[in-house]
Amino acid sequence: MPIHPLYGHEGVRNRLAGAFASGRLPQALLLEGPAGVGKQRLGLWLAQLLLCDAPVAGGREPCGACRSCRLVLSLSHPDLHWFVPIELGKRGGDADKQVELVETALGEEMAARREKPLYEPTSGLAGHAIASVRLLLRRLALTPAIGRRKVAIIGDAERLIPQQGQEAAANALLKVLEEPPADAQLVLTASEPEALLPTILSRVVRVRLARLPDTIVTAFVQKELGVAEESIVEQQVRSADGIPGRVLAVTGDRPGADAAAGEFLSAARGAGVGRYELALRQMPFQARGGFTAMLDALLARLRAEARAAGTPSRKLTEAIARVFEAREQAQGNVNPQLLAAVLSDDLAGV
Ligand SMILES: [Zn+2]
Repeated sequence: MPIHPLYGHEGVRNRLAGAFASGRLPQALLLEGPAGVGKQRLGLWLAQLLLCDAPVAGGREPCGACRSCRLVLSLSHPDLHWFVPIELGKRGGDADKQVELVETALGEEMAARREKPLYEPTSGLAGHAIASVRLLLRRLALTPAIGRRKVAIIGDAERLIPQQGQEAAANALLKVLEEPPADAQLVLTASEPEALLPTILSRVVRVRLARLPDTIVTAFVQKELGVAEESIVEQQVRSADGIPGRVLAVTGDRPGADAAAGEFLSAARGAGVGRYELALRQMPFQARGGFTAMLDALLARLRAEARAAGTPSRKLTEAIARVFEAREQAQGNVNPQLLAAVLSDDLAGV
């Protein structure tokens, strides 16, 4: 399945394309902006433009039809190297073995993204280990396979993990950022650029991506997620707040989310300590997406109850408002366990 089209960011696209057309595109770029705003997707767009055989619109847009474009859009272009943070389960082995493990894990991740192009935020446990850096350096040393250049995207670059005793690879990365091979383009992305090492920051040209206007998020929700019901579109656009990726974080695993919501609701309504146990089960890392999905399912259940009641009680109306509030807080850095505990108290009397 091809990846979804890029939404918005026209100003940045124009600037980058203009710089490329005039041969002034900096070879090491850092795209920064909120998580989910489309930084890596923009990186892929730039890769497509740079690898395209016949760009259109005065060289400012990839044609979308040539072999290179099709290969980029299906994440299969041999000169596109997309590095995303990965979870490396077992450690050990020598450096070469580690690189092999990273290569396999990245291959699996790309296969998953070809299958399901709209991906959820990366798990908090994933990172770019030094073996990823080694793999990157190896690939940058290769001659381009079918094009004139190669493009490397390093997503969530703030997850580059410095490792003791591996300074040589880290220094090699800095050297490559400072002076990339003539046929290489590097695109780093970060939602927390300040978390990057200053030695990296000083070697890249920073490009800021802003939130998207609601009209564009609306188009994204309707066309890419296939949401037709106006009230749901509105709710998703509101909670996205200019960041389409936020909608994705809550759409996965609907059946599981609904079951979790039912469990949460009956525990909150029941007496005693059961509800705190339930709150503690909200995992802080990977389940953040799961937690927001559960809150969405909870909202749906309470709204259905309100509809069924005809005239919902004041308590029920308040409960809906509380869950909605929690849903908004869950987007931020609030601890899901804490949020769940407070919410279960709010819902206790409903
Ligand atoms: Zn093309």
